[in-house]
Amino acid sequence: MNPAEWLARTASLTPEAPALFLGDRQVADYGAFARDAAAIGAGLVARGIGPGDRVALFLPNSIDYLPIFYGILYAGATAVPVNGKLHAKEAAWIVTHSGARLVFAKDPQALRATGDIDGVPCLAPGEAEMAALRATPPLAAPAPLRAEDPAWLFYTSGTTGRPKGAILSCGNLLAMSLSYFADVDEVAPGDAALYAAPLSHGAGLYNFVHVLRGARHVVPESGGFDPAEIFAMARTLGNISMFAAPTMVKRMVDHARAGGGSGEGIKTIVYGGGPMYVADIKEALAVMGPKFVQIYGQGEAPMTITALSRADIANRDAPGWEGRLASVGRAHAVAELRILGPDGAPLPPGEVGEIAVRGPQVMQGYLDNPDANAASLRDGWLMTGDLGQMDAQGYLYLHDRAKDLVISGGSNIYPREVEEVLLTHPQVAEVSVIGLPDPDWGEIVVAVVVPAGDTAPEPAQLDATCTAQIARFKKPKRYVFLPELPKNNYGKVLKTELREKLADQD
Ligand code: AMP
Repeated sequence: MNPAEWLARTASLTPEAPALFLGDRQVADYGAFARDAAAIGAGLVARGIGPGDRVALFLPNSIDYLPIFYGILYAGATAVPVNGKLHAKEAAWIVTHSGARLVFAKDPQALRATGDIDGVPCLAPGEAEMAALRATPPLAAPAPLRAEDPAWLFYTSGTTGRPKGAILSCGNLLAMSLSYFADVDEVAPGDAALYAAPLSHGAGLYNFVHVLRGARHVVPESGGFDPAEIFAMARTLGNISMFAAPTMVKRMVDHARAGGGSGEGIKTIVYGGGPMYVADIKEALAVMGPKFVQIYGQGEAPMTITALSRADIANRDAPGWEGRLASVGRAHAVAELRILGPDGAPLPPGEVGEIAVRGPQVMQGYLDNPDANAASLRDGWLMTGDLGQMDAQGYLYLHDRAKDLVISGGSNIYPREVEEVLLTHPQVAEVSVIGLPDPDWGEIVVAVVVPAGDTAPEPAQLDATCTAQIARFKKPKRYVFLPELPKNNYGKVLKTELREKLADQD
């Protein structure tokens, strides 16, 4: 079952349905989209590429992205999406590690100039060679693939160390997509997926549900994330669904609050990929309405571990509503969850341990990485490396990763808890809490604060906010004010970089 079959199926049923949009301008209907993909697939087959081969896409979001992606699948090959924002050197590492036979790249010259890709052919959308590929007589049907065959080699964002290539099979992508319908949102043909985050990751994984339902796919003209542009497009196109990191949600809410409207035309914002603070989602709800669904996942179990539903988020009258906003929701329909203690035995509700997940969405393993496979896959369970606890109703609460935990004077302090409290102070726009080495305490709690206005809040006020809500020993011993927090291309705060930066200053 090749996911390109989903495109072929929609195209044969509704060939004239609008499919690809650049901004609010339609560029292709489903018939043209599928023909283009089938032609690119044929061109790859003519180059000897087929099942078992890998083809990389080092491209920013663009209108060519999905036809190329599906072209690779039509040929039966495995797509290797590489974040278009990476440095050419980083992308070349992934190209080499994946053993890609060919790369679609916006700037082949930059990739070749690294000297690292060793004769792997590079094609740029828009160049003559690419036009010739697209002019190949289309394949009549996608190459047949089985559920266990690879479809997407997903390189993890790697906030530490080298990225790892999670092998996602056709069956993994099917499980993810069906679970989306079951637990995240329904999709109707009149809906539109808006790709404001990189198609190489979460946003792109959600393309399948929109292809399955014959919905529209929209790439902003800016190619990236601009709240004003998104709000304007949503008003024209209507029924927009998008995946957004919590930091993107925050920027949209700021835009709305500054007079940009309430996000009319936006149907669903699925957020995840990093912690969403209670103060932030409450504000998002107040300003933009019940548009939000949260997911918790990772490349290894793509987008599909838990979901906090629209009703869970929006239904203020439900008992325990506010507390639940801090959770990442309940297991997806396809996911079995366990919280494991240090000895690997399952823990009861309320106890913190490592989150393990099992199900048909869990990757086949990492490519060429036996050590990482041994560490993360045990008896069919994926060890997520995330810490959390589950309540009696099955709502999962994530704790900070073990490496982010601060141990000060022998006490464990979870940064997220301190961050949640500091964010309730009106002069705090963003905050990241880290531990820094200290001769007396082992580590001290340091809060790195991005002020909400021109003036930074007084440390004494922040202290008072903390002592009103949490134990004294958790209160930061130091505040650092920065204009912004270091983040990776997906909006995740880079705590390791923050720790190094502050340690260097010391
Ligand atoms: P990636 O594989 O790059 O998508 O990163 C996955 C990691 O992001 C997970 O293991 C979590 O640590 C974190 N993450 C994903 N979703 C959430 C969420 N909803 N809340 C907090 N952290 C999340």
